[in-house]
Amino acid sequence: MRQDPNACCPLHAVPLREGCVIISFGTYSFGDAFIQAQRHFFPKAGFFAWQSYAMQAENKIVCPVQYCSACRRAQLLWEKENSSVTWLPPTLEDAERTIHDHFGIERSVHSVPAEIHDLLRANKLLAAVKLLQQANPGVEIPRLRSHLRYLGYSAELEQALQAIRTSGPHLAYADER
Ligand SMILES: [Zn+2]
Repeated sequence: MRQDPNACCPLHAVPLREGCVIISFGTYSFGDAFIQAQRHFFPKAGFFAWQSYAMQAENKIVCPVQYCSACRRAQLLWEKENSSVTWLPPTLEDAERTIHDHFGIERSVHSVPAEIHDLLRANKLLAAVKLLQQANPGVEIPRLRSHLRYLGYSAELEQALQAIRTSGPHLAYADER
């Protein structure tokens, strides 16, 4: 997404800030009331971004957005006044869970011995599966394999978590107080 450093909110006439959000997948129906409110009260809240084809190819889960803090406050207020939770930004906890899920965490795998990472780096996948199986008796092999793939994404995972923690939409909740 191209960022314009001089972009301003058309409603509040303040410079837009840079942040990042979790990319939403699939199609959503906002409903007329929300669309009207968005147009009039918070056009640049920027709590969400939808997947483009470019993102699909890159296995991306977070993307940069430009937003207006006044719009974000207005949207939080609107949600509260309308007893709506549908378009509230995710909490940090929810966002982190979504990121882990995106990279394929297997929640049946509870224990990951430290040596697993060395085996993965050395590309000794069979040994890694065996070790993971010993540490998680009863978990099926396909789940163990899939969790190893998840562990293989550790750099991308850490990057996505870091981006969200420092500039994610949950910060609007702190702004509100
Ligand atoms: Zn605004």
